[in-house]
Amino acid sequence: MTDKLTLALTKGRILKETLPLLARVGIEPLDDIASSRKLVFETSRAGLRLVVLRGTDVPTYVRLGAADLGVVGKDVLLEHGAEGLYEPLDLQIARCRLMTAGRAGWRHTGGRVRVATKFVNIAREHFARKGVNADVIKLYGAMELAPAMHLADLIVDIVDTGNTLRANGMEPLEEIAAISSRLVVNKAAMRHSHDAVTRLVRELSAVVAGGGDAAA
Ligand code: AMP
Repeated sequence: MTDKLTLALTKGRILKETLPLLARVGIEPLDDIASSRKLVFETSRAGLRLVVLRGTDVPTYVRLGAADLGVVGKDVLLEHGAEGLYEPLDLQIARCRLMTAGRAGWRHTGGRVRVATKFVNIAREHFARKGVNADVIKLYGAMELAPAMHLADLIVDIVDTGNTLRANGMEPLEEIAAISSRLVVNKAAMRHSHDAVTRLVRELSAVVAGGGDAAA
């Protein structure tokens, strides 16, 4: 089949780190993504266009076939599930850790803990696995504020350098998962556009593995 492939990208830090990878396989957006208000971009590869989405929407677009492939953080796949998707490649970009964190010096002395996070499924699973009773509170941002304001004892959040935590009087405690961005593929696209999809996976794999210029 010769239909155009659509690759859904996660805006923000992941997008910034994905574009150089794509450039190395000869794929460049025809408009400047950083300055454009568009959400769909044709590329230097006639058979491929890009859409730029919120990370949590990428698996939905790919699962339902509105996009054939996607680039999304492993944290999103762990939290929202990866059913209906192939995950053929760890792009090894936007690396960080999903961690628990608390006020500096706070220690769990038994009993229930209150946990604020946007990763409610991951948090529930983590504390259940440890046998700790956790009341998980869903927040949409600024998780590091919750312990300072006594909304919660702990948070579950993404940590890179740990500077955000330290600036708010907190410290990282336990690592739940190492996170990086993944290439995901719609299962039907893997069949009906097999050659184009596997070519892109192969090219990106070569770049990730340090194989240099993989355009073919
Ligand atoms: P840091 O202060 O370096 O630990 O970064 C912490 C904040 O940066 C987190 O609360 C996230 O919002 C954001 N962040 C860091 N790394 C990533 C990443 N790979 N993907 C998405 N957000 C990130």
